[in-house]
Amino acid sequence: MKEQARQARSENRIVGLIPTMGALHEGHLALVKRARQECSEIITSIFVNPKQFGPKEDFAKYPRTFEADAEKLASAGVDAIFAPEPADVYPPGFRSYVSVEGLSDRLEGRSRPGHFRGVATVVLKLLEIVQPHFAYFGRKDAQQVRIISQMAGDLNLDTEIVVCPIVREPDGLALSSRNAYLKPDERKAATVLHRALIAGRDELAAGGRDSLLLQTTLRKVLQAEPLAAVDYAEIVDADTFEPVTRVARPCYVVLAVFLGKTRLIDNLYIEPAGKDDDEFIFHI
Ligand code: AMP
Repeated sequence: MKEQARQARSENRIVGLIPTMGALHEGHLALVKRARQECSEIITSIFVNPKQFGPKEDFAKYPRTFEADAEKLASAGVDAIFAPEPADVYPPGFRSYVSVEGLSDRLEGRSRPGHFRGVATVVLKLLEIVQPHFAYFGRKDAQQVRIISQMAGDLNLDTEIVVCPIVREPDGLALSSRNAYLKPDERKAATVLHRALIAGRDELAAGGRDSLLLQTTLRKVLQAEPLAAVDYAEIVDADTFEPVTRVARPCYVVLAVFLGKTRLIDNLYIEPAGKDDDEFIFHI
């Protein structure tokens, strides 16, 4: 992989990397599409990274659909797939990890201890191997891409981190490889995340700024769904991922909700339209 990427750079091609865990869907393919706008060599990695799963999480049963993924990537115009084995990425004696402090402890980091250390470590390795000009991530995993951008800045990486919008099903459910775990009744109920975000957005659009009131609205929608169990529903600063009391700066409404055993995340990105906080642009 290093050799091919080096070759592409030496031929003055613009290299783009899309890191994934496979089980590809239109959300992943949107990242490829975006990469095609600015890159002439597109590399997608497929690696179910054991270091980002907790001992009780779904590493063993995470969907692995390599043949179908390879077909999708070929039709999407990807130049190379990098699909290493865990033993290649973490050979015996592996000892080095990356921790992005502060940002990694809350929300996803709190519910999934060690998760972001695993993510940051594997993404740094992928960026070192490929040395892409651009790397593409979905805003679906907002805290993850914030952490990766922080790492890229802190460690002087030569890769620009590009954040792409969330791709959704027609009924609002954010595409996720884990949606495949949902039973039919859970799949129907799973639209509750999007419904809660829409309720939050409507309250903000109507002038609501108080986080506690917004949180009450989110919880009301989520708790009305009998199959849903809330892990967290918060309004956080988009830079620090700390809770805010009032929405005035760029913020996220972030949700993590269990439908049965399946844990889904989703978010709404709120960007002030001007200097005052009387108008926002909503990215959902
Ligand atoms: P994963 O395979 O789940 O590790 O995801 C690989 C990349 O695809 C990450 O940057 C995700 O944020 C992104 N991604 C996953 N689902 C979506 C989606 N529904 N819309 C946009 N990007 C997504």
